[in-house]
Amino acid sequence: MALDRALLEQQMAQLPIVQYEFFPTCDLVFSERVRHICAHECTQYGKSWACPPAVGPVAECRAHCLSYPNALLITSLSEVTDIENLETTLATRVDHEELTRQVKSLFQAQGVDTFVLSTESCAICEHCAYPGGPCRFPEKMFPCVESQGILVTDLAEKFHIDFQAGGNLVTWFSLILYR
Ligand code: SF4
Repeated sequence: MALDRALLEQQMAQLPIVQYEFFPTCDLVFSERVRHICAHECTQYGKSWACPPAVGPVAECRAHCLSYPNALLITSLSEVTDIENLETTLATRVDHEELTRQVKSLFQAQGVDTFVLSTESCAICEHCAYPGGPCRFPEKMFPCVESQGILVTDLAEKFHIDFQAGGNLVTWFSLILYR
């Protein structure tokens, strides 16, 4: 079903979204370099169904993402007491994940099919079932944007997203791909 964008925008205006941008999914830049960073700099690599290598090769991720021709980027801001403290900073992500879920529901209510990507690795379960068993909540789980090989710096440049908002402010972001 085609998206009623005006209705969605009206509904999103009620949510704590700081910035949103609609764009064609084919504008996303996919790169193997992102995977290199996942593999060498992220502690979640190989530990979650939401991250590589579990999500599959970049070429497959790209093809899957492009099967949803439209994209919506949303950002939200959280204030933390100490941005250098990774644990407390990551804890504020819960609100952004809930916000992402709410936006996904708005698409679902219009009968629009989505593939949702969010920030960081999935943290729904205390211990991820990967690799011993299947994901426990495949309908609720959002793979991380970078897991698909998507170059987030390119998105930030295109849409002037300031990830260094200053002080103790954290910018969270999600991508809702839809068809
Ligand atoms: S829902 Fe649970 S099993 Fe699935 S990716 Fe998230 S943490 Fe892992």
